[in-house]
Amino acid sequence: MKDGLEGGCACGKVRYRLASAPMFVHCCHCRECQRQTGSAFVINALIETDRIALLAGAPTAVAVPAESGRPQEIYRCRECQTAVWSQYGGRAELRFVRVGTLDDPTALPPDVHIYTRSKLPWVTLPQAIPAFEAYYDSRQLWPAASLERRRAIFG
Ligand SMILES: [Zn+2]
Ligand SMILES: [Zn+2]
Repeated sequence: MKDGLEGGCACGKVRYRLASAPMFVHCCHCRECQRQTGSAFVINALIETDRIALLAGAPTAVAVPAESGRPQEIYRCRECQTAVWSQYGGRAELRFVRVGTLDDPTALPPDVHIYTRSKLPWVTLPQAIPAFEAYYDSRQLWPAASLERRRAIFG
């Protein structure tokens, strides 16, 4: 059902397909994501880099300062500069795909809401989805199969 999801940038020069469902989907309400997107939050699908098939174009990495001190690289279309995914802490095996760039962003609703301490007050979160003031313990929240996939890339 969630296999073969496709997405791309605003101008259409970058197109991609996800080979499988992501491991987990974050909705991040931190100040950095708010500033980078100019919006209330960002939705990131965490997936192995080798499960993203580039169908067209080649996003270029832009280094962005992060509060954590760990470098973040945001990959953007060279033409229209839409951000399609990012990478944290130099971990090239894992991508954070921006769900808003999917052709059907309803396909990947958030599994968790994080950094709700800076959530904008007029955003109301659903009761059924776990939410955390800051980060969370993925070992307690991720499905076993997703933890296994993460172990496969990071050991
Ligand atoms: Zn573009
Ligand atoms: Zn964030």
